[in-house]
Amino acid sequence: MRYLKMTFVLALLCVAVSRGYVRKSEIQSNDRTKLILRAKGNACIKMGGRCQDDSQRCVGSYVSGKCPGSIKHRCCLPTMDEACTMVGGLCQDDSQGCGGSYVSGKCSGPITRKCCLPTIDDVCTEMGGRCQDDSQRCGGSYVSGKCSGPITRRCCSAKPIISYTGFCENVKIISRDSWGARRPKDTEEMHLPVNYTFIHHTKTGNCSNTNKCMGQLKNIQDFHMYTRNWSDIAYNFLIGGDGQVYEGRGWSRTGAHTLKYNRRSIAISFIGDFMSYSPVSSALTASEKLIECAKKHRVLTTGYALYGHRDVGATTCPGDTLYKLIQQWPHYGRNVS
Ligand SMILES: [Zn+2]
Repeated sequence: MRYLKMTFVLALLCVAVSRGYVRKSEIQSNDRTKLILRAKGNACIKMGGRCQDDSQRCVGSYVSGKCPGSIKHRCCLPTMDEACTMVGGLCQDDSQGCGGSYVSGKCSGPITRKCCLPTIDDVCTEMGGRCQDDSQRCGGSYVSGKCSGPITRRCCSAKPIISYTGFCENVKIISRDSWGARRPKDTEEMHLPVNYTFIHHTKTGNCSNTNKCMGQLKNIQDFHMYTRNWSDIAYNFLIGGDGQVYEGRGWSRTGAHTLKYNRRSIAISFIGDFMSYSPVSSALTASEKLIECAKKHRVLTTGYALYGHRDVGATTCPGDTLYKLIQQWPHYGRNVS
């Protein structure tokens, strides 16, 4: 009986060992094939080439035996200088200054002719910009993906680069990045849709072209963030004397504009002081379209109410003339509670 038990245990052990052994050797041979294939792929990449089917166009020349897989899968090797230019570099004598770093083996000619590869920051400086933390003031526009370091280190362009944001088909909204907005100190999301929209004016100088309006926006944001100590520019949107809509806090972020109503309203502010005159007609049309869009996309309820800031606070905002105007607008003074 004891003999039988031992034989049984031994048999089990044999099966386990042999299975384990087979599996181990299979893995080993798979790994080896993979390694060889990878080495072949690397051989091509290391030479500055690219593995591709040789029926495809190759700028340069095909070399065999450097790529894994089928015999038709070959290494397309660029001519030497192309190996450098393809990665964004420039071939030059390494005695010359290079903004980034020198890499060997990518350029034709003498050994001192090397590939000067830019650092990511160069991409920004080449467009005339400067890499900086996006909490800082920027004279132009903020552009992502052009600077090294943390995600908040972004390229501040020398001149504005306009881009639009949002989902409105009927009106364009110039993005925060375009006007070079600083990163907010803090944000809070609102629950949409909201019942109210409030009309304000910035009580600043007005602006008649996009560059001037962008300058005003930066000044207003600075005033709100560093004098008032709010987390960002107060309003959800601003409208310039150039008839353009500018993104402030945007559609869904709680503003700092109308006491007791910040969490349940969208604030639209006209840039300028509208005590004795009204905004230009293109600016008024833009606000009308913006509100229409907000309603269509369920940011505002269909039965929303529109008010002037002075209707709920001790202020002259949005100025006598503009206030008279908005009282003629369809949703003015509705009761939604
Ligand atoms: Zn106001």
